[in-house]
Amino acid sequence: MRLSVSATEYRDQIRNGTVTVEEFVSKTLEKIKKVDEQIHAFITVNDDAINQARNLDKKLKAKEKVGACLGMPISIKDNICTKGIKTTCASKLLQDFVAPYDATVISRLKAEDAIIIGKTNLDEFAMGLTTEFSCYGPTKNPWNIDYVPGGSSGGSAAAVSACESIVSLGSDTGGSVRNPASFCSVFGLKPTYGLVSRYGLVSYANSIEQIGPMARTVEDIAFLMNIIAGQDPNDNTTIDSGAVDYVDDLDVGISGKKIGVVSEMMGEGEQKEVTESTRNAISKLEELGADCEEISISEVLHSVAAYYTLTAAEASSNLARYDNIRYGYDFGVEGFEFNAYISRSRKNFGDEVIRRMLLGTYVLSSGYFGKYYMKAQQVRSLIKTQVERAFQKVDLLISPTVPSMPFKLGEKINDELALFRLDVNTVTANLANIPAISVPFEVKNGLPIGIQLFAGHLQEKLLFQAAHALSKLTKLPESPI
Ligand code: GLN
Repeated sequence: MRLSVSATEYRDQIRNGTVTVEEFVSKTLEKIKKVDEQIHAFITVNDDAINQARNLDKKLKAKEKVGACLGMPISIKDNICTKGIKTTCASKLLQDFVAPYDATVISRLKAEDAIIIGKTNLDEFAMGLTTEFSCYGPTKNPWNIDYVPGGSSGGSAAAVSACESIVSLGSDTGGSVRNPASFCSVFGLKPTYGLVSRYGLVSYANSIEQIGPMARTVEDIAFLMNIIAGQDPNDNTTIDSGAVDYVDDLDVGISGKKIGVVSEMMGEGEQKEVTESTRNAISKLEELGADCEEISISEVLHSVAAYYTLTAAEASSNLARYDNIRYGYDFGVEGFEFNAYISRSRKNFGDEVIRRMLLGTYVLSSGYFGKYYMKAQQVRSLIKTQVERAFQKVDLLISPTVPSMPFKLGEKINDELALFRLDVNTVTANLANIPAISVPFEVKNGLPIGIQLFAGHLQEKLLFQAAHALSKLTKLPESPI
């Protein structure tokens, strides 16, 4: 039995009885046991998964109605609430937190009989780009365990890449789905803002982030979007996008489509191998009949500064709730006076989170609000306008997902600015509320490179068609682990 099946292949095999849900789930748990000591993709493995698999097999045998996931093992980033399974956000402050409810995406997956196989590692509260800022220690890249898997959804990307789950859900505030997807050679989507409910996603920067799927095929990304997308009364930022079937017509190709190559995301400050790969992807798309032309979105140059100002501001207010009273853990604080108790508790945030909260409090304080926060909002609206204008000229945009190949663990851990700069190609989609996907494209010196495609607001279907066309041009090895 192969664990590297796509969601579609898995469903076919279950339907025609080649394999039972229990067999597949127990093989997946064996794989996790075998490789996760090295990779460390998971924070928690669901110890009820086998029982759920057996129950599904019974239902299937009795020919009862079973949902579209048919017991498929799915891993979930550990900042998405799951009733009865811990949601830690890789933070000491939430190490014992069990949410009393499921996030909307989880209820939707469960309604389709998915099995949550476990919760995956991340940078604390999704702040980071390497998964090294987790209180549980880093995740390793399955392609080479001396290298970072990207982040912050590094556990999810590694789990999919190492076949520890078929698909996964991550969250993307400024690239956290696409960046690790690129570093681990899987697909990762940041949907249009409002297309997927954020109810039950622990907020980092709620005006910017979305939950997004990660998978080994575009079709699986589309399949997951069919389940998780849609309006939700529990999240009033969700939008009614109509009844779209994302799996339908994936194969239409991209002949005649106009693709803008974003000048500000090409070449400068970028690793040579990455630029070469992107140029290679562009010429292949042209061979398929796409019409590619350079396009400038000048505000991209200010996008990282605006992104970090806005996200720090939102984070400082979102994380104010962690007082270690409503949520928390026991660290033996007998005898503390109220304020001292709370400040002692909050010392347990990691350094990166503390840095962002301080920065956020600063940019929101009187005297600085206009200079920094308001200015960043203005840059955000300029970016939106420029992106809208670009989509009047072209159907899609293209860039490398990350300007760098995966790098070694520890290499950039003390250099925030170097890390921040690596977000330059991803944050634009978040600031402009548009969808973007990372497509695994090449493996050089044993390490993956991903290509990013962007589409206009709610144009996920077109985005998947282009990603599908591009992915058909590549024949990538499976991750070696
Ligand atoms: N690297 C970015 C940050 O640290 C993106 C994180 C994310 O998308 N959650 O904020």
